[in-house]
Amino acid sequence: MKKLRFRQIHLDFHTSELIEGIGVEFDPGDFARTLKKNHIDSITCFAKCHHGMSYYQTKVGIKHPYLKRDLLKEMIAACHAEDIRVPAYISVCFDEYMAGEHPEWRRVDSEGKMGGVGPLQAGWHILCLNSDYADYVAQQTEEVLRNYESDGIFFDIVGHPDDGCFCRRCVRDRDELHLDSESKEDLKKHKEIVLQRFRNRLYSLVQSIKPEVSVFFNGSIQIGMHDSLRDLTHLEIESLPSGGWGYSHFPFFVRYCRTLNKEFLGMTARFHKSWADFGSLKNKAALEYECFSMLANGAKCSIGDQMHPRGRLNKSAYERIGKVYKSVAEKEPWCVEAKPVTQIGVVSVASQKHVSVDGIHASDEGAMRMLLETHHQFDILDLEADFSGYELLILPDSISISPAIRKKLNTFLKAGGRLVLSYESGLNQEREDFVLPEMGTEYIGRDEYLPNYFQVKEMISDRIPDMPHIMYEGSLKIKPLEGTEVLATVMYPYFNRTYKHFSSHFQTPVEKSAKFPAVTRRGEVIYISSPIFRAYKLHGYIVYRQLLENLLDLLLPKKLVKADLPSTCQVTVMQQKDRRIVHLLHYIPERRVDGLDIVEDTIPLYNLRVSVHTGDWSPAKVYLAPGAIPVEFEPEGEYISCLIPRLDGHGMLVLER
Ligand SMILES: [Zn+2]
Repeated sequence: MKKLRFRQIHLDFHTSELIEGIGVEFDPGDFARTLKKNHIDSITCFAKCHHGMSYYQTKVGIKHPYLKRDLLKEMIAACHAEDIRVPAYISVCFDEYMAGEHPEWRRVDSEGKMGGVGPLQAGWHILCLNSDYADYVAQQTEEVLRNYESDGIFFDIVGHPDDGCFCRRCVRDRDELHLDSESKEDLKKHKEIVLQRFRNRLYSLVQSIKPEVSVFFNGSIQIGMHDSLRDLTHLEIESLPSGGWGYSHFPFFVRYCRTLNKEFLGMTARFHKSWADFGSLKNKAALEYECFSMLANGAKCSIGDQMHPRGRLNKSAYERIGKVYKSVAEKEPWCVEAKPVTQIGVVSVASQKHVSVDGIHASDEGAMRMLLETHHQFDILDLEADFSGYELLILPDSISISPAIRKKLNTFLKAGGRLVLSYESGLNQEREDFVLPEMGTEYIGRDEYLPNYFQVKEMISDRIPDMPHIMYEGSLKIKPLEGTEVLATVMYPYFNRTYKHFSSHFQTPVEKSAKFPAVTRRGEVIYISSPIFRAYKLHGYIVYRQLLENLLDLLLPKKLVKADLPSTCQVTVMQQKDRRIVHLLHYIPERRVDGLDIVEDTIPLYNLRVSVHTGDWSPAKVYLAPGAIPVEFEPEGEYISCLIPRLDGHGMLVLER
């Protein structure tokens, strides 16, 4: 496959068969010129939409009844003339036309209800990948590949439910595979089999016809996605912060995807809310923030849109996209082939097979937020990841230790790795005992006081007020073994708040020391007895983050970037041949509407002192890119200390040999 482009559009065209005059105003020259003028170099165009309508000459599917031209062919030809890449879009599990024609192809839940919305609601019905519908999708794919010069296939809505499909085909399939339709575990196993079978079939088909084109199955981005990697050419992280994904989704998944050795892009959209929010535009600052976050993390950019049924692109939308993509184009030379430089690996709780999570696990998100807000360089890892490239690993809250993980951690620690574990992390799979002797702690049991308090000792008290602090999520009782240092202790309230006894409005005040450690250290291993990561995600108490920061200072004194920046500023470090590039991002989402975070303004930061660890080399020049604005710098031990006079939203501090 050729390299992915940096400035992409994902163009939807889900158009009801009741709407007339489809594509009547489509002007191929104007279409391609609008894209070109606005710095777009790749556009995913539709072959078949969620309504099941095709926009090309099809013998297999149903062409939209009010479309009188071959839109796909015209779009591809016009874009190719301007050197714009065009993958084709095929909707998979949503196909309204076929859901109506073949109700027996629809997904069925365990109570016999068909997948998707009810008969009196507007919305999509869901098809089962295990039905003959898969043959239909394969034939459409073959038709598009053989008859059109598309540069790739984007399969959308490729999924199967965790709790199983109960259509006749799926039930029979499970019987034949000796999987129990009444077992949750087997249903999940079957889901993976169905998905893998479908992806493998379609990927092999594409390969057999056009091995050079890109293939992606949307819906496959999840922690532990190794099984799907061989059947896709690259990764697309669909993440519309305003469309339900939120502003934590992209920074989390991009830090996972970049460990998988595939090219990847981030995908947002130009809408104010979610897909097809017609008559709206995303604020310019928000679009910048989302695209520049992609660059800052080594991703390429994609912005979603939907064309009007008559076939015209919205000029205002493309002007807005064009302004942001002009800036992306200027920044690209510092982003091509740039690789992230990281020190910390966070082992995701969601990578454990027994954990089922929709979105991001609270402990994973808490860890990510703490590290993002303290400007640490980190990746999100699954259990299959290679740990050897990291200086420090975090096992948040509930990573149980199988014999295989124990072996990996032993190797990691022997090679000089450092480890932070919290709460149930470190326990065996039965959750009965700690299995890593390196922790130097003995497991006693769960603490009966919920919530309880903790008091830190002086050596980890930087910026933490001297008082017992509330731990809303409680802790485990542990005993330090001889030679294990206690860095913080658990404190108890007078009693738990119950109907039998309570005091005042909220938790009961602190009474006494519990004689159990809240934080221990043995050599390069630190253990925190409370689920501090989940607690930070749920309660946002700054002391939890300051505590982690102080602990990381002990284990990781040579933090890659040391800077006195606000917690709203994100920092990533990338390496590109002889350049080290520090991305600084400063945009502030604000919850102004229920369920919706708004970014409206770019608030500049001034006179930022940023020290970058370079170790044994010193740069010949330091500047802000693009524009090559010189930056004052001086060596300070193993660091280069730089003074950035002003940051407007996003800046790249470049240290060049
Ligand atoms: Zn089924």
